[in-house]
Amino acid sequence: MENHHKFSIWYVLIAIWIVLILHNLIVQMFAVKHIPYSEFVKALNAGMVVEVAIGQDRIEGKMKVIQDGPEVEKPFSTVRVDPDLSDLLEKHNVTFKGVIETHFLRNLASWVFPLILFFGIWYVMMRRFAARQGSFLTLGKKKAKVYMEDEVGVTFDDAAGVDEAKEELVEVIDFLKTPEKFTRLGGKLPKGILLVGPPGTGKTLLARAVAGESKVPFFSMSGSEFVELFVGMGAARVRDLFAQAKEKAPCIIFIDELDALGKARGLGITGGHDEREQTLNQLLVEMDGFDPTIGVILMAATNRPEILDPALLRPGRFDRHVLVDRPDKRGREEILMVHLKGIVVDKDVEVEIVAGMTPGFVGADLANLANEATLLAVRHNKDKVGMAEFQEAVERIVAGLEKKNRLINKMEREIVAYHEVGHALVALSLPGTDTVRKISIIPRGVAALGYTLQVPTEDRFLMTKSELLNKICVALGGRAAEEIQFQDVSTGAHNDLSRATDIARSMVKQYGMSPKLGNVYFEKDRQRQFPDLGMPSAKDYSEQTAQVMDSEIKAIIDSQYEAVKEILSKHKNVLDEGAALVLKEESIEGDRLKKLLEAHQKT
Ligand code: ADP
Ligand code: MG
Ligand code: ZN
Repeated sequence: MENHHKFSIWYVLIAIWIVLILHNLIVQMFAVKHIPYSEFVKALNAGMVVEVAIGQDRIEGKMKVIQDGPEVEKPFSTVRVDPDLSDLLEKHNVTFKGVIETHFLRNLASWVFPLILFFGIWYVMMRRFAARQGSFLTLGKKKAKVYMEDEVGVTFDDAAGVDEAKEELVEVIDFLKTPEKFTRLGGKLPKGILLVGPPGTGKTLLARAVAGESKVPFFSMSGSEFVELFVGMGAARVRDLFAQAKEKAPCIIFIDELDALGKARGLGITGGHDEREQTLNQLLVEMDGFDPTIGVILMAATNRPEILDPALLRPGRFDRHVLVDRPDKRGREEILMVHLKGIVVDKDVEVEIVAGMTPGFVGADLANLANEATLLAVRHNKDKVGMAEFQEAVERIVAGLEKKNRLINKMEREIVAYHEVGHALVALSLPGTDTVRKISIIPRGVAALGYTLQVPTEDRFLMTKSELLNKICVALGGRAAEEIQFQDVSTGAHNDLSRATDIARSMVKQYGMSPKLGNVYFEKDRQRQFPDLGMPSAKDYSEQTAQVMDSEIKAIIDSQYEAVKEILSKHKNVLDEGAALVLKEESIEGDRLKKLLEAHQKT
């Protein structure tokens, strides 16, 4: 879109330039010297006039002029004064003829060219204007087509290292290929699929790949494009987009950078952006109004899901979220393979090693890396891209990234590895805790440096005291592991601490699980007054009780922390092995740590 704009500005400039040159040529061609009538008569008397054409009130012709030596004939014109000229002309032997004064060519030059110029500029301006406005002044239907691709050449093979996201999207492809199969059984598909993940991980790529795989038309638009329009145009465009998509069903509508459009309403500093709200409202209306069984799937992408308007995420709207995460080492290897396809690579290049050198890189960074390495090889006059080029390219890109979004350094990686394995190991050793699925030191989201993915094995409505205590232990496992390994602790645990404290506080204040305070409920469900001015709310218990509570909460945490340290010290080997494994592979399945633990317990 942006390219298109720049393009037409160049067109305008080139057109103006050509017109100016043409104009100059024409003026030169018809360069006629205007002379006073007296001069004409003088020239006539001197015998210099060669020929004339006489009109009602003008005379044009050629006269001899002496110019740098040789005589040349030059055109001239003059305004006629003397009506009886023929005698004089005859006397001097000049060919003469009458002429009807229509200066066709000159008229053309003086009228038509400015007109052409004017219409030319007008036309180009209008086209640019209309391109920005969609339906304004042109038949709106045509405009949004700019964003439609009948056939997308991208397939799932182009997006590597995002297997989990792909798995979730396979169903959508199935549906788009054969909607009847689904509708016959009365199946319902999600209307809206939101791809969530850091920039450059391939969200846009995946959306296009879904269209490419299912061979359906792909309507796409970027959230920011809706917003920069004039008032009312954004909403009109949304309507247009959906209307067109319905005609083309089955198809995909993709809204990139949804956050630009879907920011929570009424959050703007300027008191809200009217146009954006209108557009967003229209989007919500359209989403509610269409029935996915006709085969239109709505997809969107964002790297900031937290700022989206909650209305967008409600059931029936963007209710299916697909995480497109940063790739781990294996993933990076696969992505590199994709981008090395078109490149002549030397035998000494080992993709696995390159992948190992690039922790924290996303797909876009890796595409950039392949390109940069190729450019370096060209600069070094090599006929193949070798390991040296990759090495250098990595260094260049890392330097850029460090400024941009803080890659984790080696020491930090180690701390995070021990921290996460600590959580996982505690979870594995205690009964009643959620299953550990995955341990990873790939940064996720904005805050977390790594994560341990636990999933509940079953729905629980009741929890026993020992289960709650075990949960506290798991939360404290990260920090305890850091302390055991490094005799020091980091700031990486503040989330864990707040979770552990929350559980302990609830145990004391709500569940009556503290022996000292007994089975008393201390926290009334108070209706929050609006506006909540942050005034201290009246307590239902004495200051003394509050002190006991605080010490009870602390006692729970402290005793669990000791227990956790004991568990981890006992399995220090497993902690070390697990951390080494995670450092090497960046993310491992929970089962592998479990096997390490079991092997250790047997001996
Ligand atoms: P996002 O929309 O998540 O910001 P893009 O889809 O625009 O990222 O990715 C930009 C480019 O980076 C893609 O065109 C592709 O060349 C490369 N890329 C990103 N992710 C991947 C991936 N998973 N596999 C292969 N290439 C990728
Ligand atoms: Mg994108
Ligand atoms: Zn933690």
